[in-house]
Amino acid sequence: MPSLKIDRRTRPGNSPEALNRKTASRGAYQPAHTTAIRRLRKTYTIRLWSVRHSRALEWVYGHFADAFLALHPFWKAVGYHRAEGPVTFIERRAKGLLFDCRMCGQCILSSTGMSCPMNCPKQLRNGPCGGVRANGNCEIEPDMPCVWVQAWSGSRAMRKGDAILDVQKPVDQSLRETSSWLRVTAQAAAKREEANPQ
Ligand code: SF4
Repeated sequence: MPSLKIDRRTRPGNSPEALNRKTASRGAYQPAHTTAIRRLRKTYTIRLWSVRHSRALEWVYGHFADAFLALHPFWKAVGYHRAEGPVTFIERRAKGLLFDCRMCGQCILSSTGMSCPMNCPKQLRNGPCGGVRANGNCEIEPDMPCVWVQAWSGSRAMRKGDAILDVQKPVDQSLRETSSWLRVTAQAAAKREEANPQ
């Protein structure tokens, strides 16, 4: 009885020519800057840039917060509630551009490596879920780099990066669409006045 065993090398598609074609297609020329990953990541370009520059942004934010606090007498004279509208308008645009800010009103960027945790589809504020993909992307949005993987990497570059280990409170939904800048300033001013009563 003739053997039914087929030599691998003689199978259609396994001929030397076909194998050569497969190898050639694997190493096919691809112009620079056109990989699928690179195209997808373009969507997150500025957000990822902010994480890469977390240390510089930490420095800028520190000075910005000091300037806002120095303006406390002005905010007080105008009325914090009156300043809320214009400041929220500017904050939404500035942080929207740099961090894809969702205006939760209780900003923790300085504790999360400049990666906004509200961009996590599960809105986790204390680290990643168990579904991070092997390539560091989100399990819900496979094209998006996990905001917590980014947060960890950004925090490692920051001076006060270990703040990422602090346990964050749950999001207070009543503060949505309000200004974190003014809230932090008012709280810092109250603390300062408490420490140095006139
Ligand atoms: S933590 Fe909140 S306020 Fe800060 S960038 Fe994210 S959504 Fe905006």
